[in-house]
Amino acid sequence: MLTPEIIHHGAVDGVTGSCHQVILPDGRSILIDCGLFQGAETASDGASSEQLEIKFPVENVAALVVTHVHIDHVGRIPYLLAAGFKGPIICTEASAHLLPMVLEDALKVGFTRNQRLIDRFLQQIRRQIVSLPYKQWHEVVPGGGLNGATLKVKFAQAGHILGSAYVEVNVKQNRENHRILFSGDLGAPYTPLLPAPSSPYGADTLVLESTYGDRLHENRRERRRRLQVLLLRTLANRGSVLIPAFSIGRTQELLYELEDIIHRNRQKQAAPQVIWDDLDILIDSPLAADFTQGYLRLKAHWDREAKRRLSAGRHPLAFDQLTTIDSHATHLQTVDYLTKTARPAIVIAASGMCSGGRIVNYLKAMLGDPRHDLLFVGYQAAGTPGRIIQQYGPRGGYVELDGKRYDIRAGVHTISGYSAHADQNDLINFIDRMRRKPQHVRLVHGDEEAKQTLAMELRKRYREMEVRIP
Ligand SMILES: [Zn+2]
Repeated sequence: MLTPEIIHHGAVDGVTGSCHQVILPDGRSILIDCGLFQGAETASDGASSEQLEIKFPVENVAALVVTHVHIDHVGRIPYLLAAGFKGPIICTEASAHLLPMVLEDALKVGFTRNQRLIDRFLQQIRRQIVSLPYKQWHEVVPGGGLNGATLKVKFAQAGHILGSAYVEVNVKQNRENHRILFSGDLGAPYTPLLPAPSSPYGADTLVLESTYGDRLHENRRERRRRLQVLLLRTLANRGSVLIPAFSIGRTQELLYELEDIIHRNRQKQAAPQVIWDDLDILIDSPLAADFTQGYLRLKAHWDREAKRRLSAGRHPLAFDQLTTIDSHATHLQTVDYLTKTARPAIVIAASGMCSGGRIVNYLKAMLGDPRHDLLFVGYQAAGTPGRIIQQYGPRGGYVELDGKRYDIRAGVHTISGYSAHADQNDLINFIDRMRRKPQHVRLVHGDEEAKQTLAMELRKRYREMEVRIP
C-alpha cells in the first residue's frame, strides 16, 4: 500500500504551533492538533505568533484529533473554524471538558471580548467535540471510493497534563495496515496527579516530540527536595518568589508539590518569622484558577497517589494557604503590595514563558529588586521574554517588556527537572518498550540541538530505524 503522506504545519523549527496532517492517497486527511506559535517560532507557510490564519486547504480535512489542551496544540482552532472546518474535534473525555475553557480564554486574548460571539463560538465547538475514552478505536474516515482507505484513531495515556494522550492512527487499505503514532507531548513518569504513560505495542511510523531530547531530568524526589531548598533560599531574604507557569498542568503540579512540602514541614520556618503553615501561596491567574477547579472536578482521572492523599483528608489542589486572585484590580493591588512590603510569598502566574499575562506586571515591578526571585519550572522557547531573562538575568542583564527596558537584579533560578515533558531517557524508553519498533521516526517539537542529539542516540541504538528531522 502507499504510505500515507504526513505534512507538518508546525512544531518543526521549535516546540510550538503543533499541527500535523495525515493525507490518504485519495486526498482525504485528518489533522493532529492545531496550535499557536509562540515567541520567534514560525512555520514554513509563514504562520507565526503574528500570522495566525490557516493557509492550507481544509475542505478535505475529515477530523481534527487533539492530543491535549495546551494552547500550542489547540490555540489555532478558532482559525481552523474560520477557514471553514466543520468536522469533528476528537479528544479524550477530560480534554473535552477542558477544551472550551482554553478556547474561551484564547478568544478573549486574540479575537474578541464580545461575550455573545464567544458563547456562540463555544456552542459551535461543543457541537463539534467528540470525546473518546482511552484505548478505544474510533473510525474517522470510512472506507469507500476507488482506493478506499479506512482511517481510525485511538488514544492512550500520555501523562503530560490531565486528559493528554498520544494518538495511534491506523490506515487500512487493501487489507494492509499502516500504523502511525503521534506522541503529542509525552509526560515524564511520576508526574504528580497523572498516571504514567505506557508504550503501545508497536507502530510503523512514529512522530515523536523531542523537547528534552538532549537532557535528563532529576527524579521526582530530588526535584521536590530541590524545590524546597530553593524556596527556602529565595524566601530567606524575604521578598516574593515568582513562578511563571502554564495555567494548565504545571500550575496544578506545582500546587500538588507545594501542598506536600507544607504537609511535611507545617511548623518549620519557611521564611524569617513565617512558618510554612502561614506562608501565602497566590495563584494570580483566573484561567489557572479555573483549570485548578477543572482538575478538581476530574478527580476520577487522577493517579493512585493523588487519590490516596484525598482519602487521607488532604486537599492537594485546594489547601488553606492558597489564595486565588480573581479581579484585575486585586491583581494590581497585590503586585503593588508585594513590591512595597517584600512580604514573603510564592506567586504562580501565567504565562509560562512571560510573553503575556499577569506575570508581566510582577516582572516590571519586581525584576529590579534583589529581594525578589524568579523561578522557572518549564521550557522557555527562543525569543520569549522568559528565555531572555533565564539567559541574561544571572549575568545582570536586562529584558524588554512592552518596549521598555528592565534591568534584572532579582534572583533568577531554574529547576530544569521540573517539567511535564519526558526527558531523553523517557523518550528512548517509550520506543524501547514497543514490541514492534517503528521503521520510521520523525522528530518534531524540539530545538535543533535536542532533535540532533536524540536522533544520534536513536540511530546508535536502532540500526534499522530511519530517523528523520523534517
Ligand atoms: Zn503540552
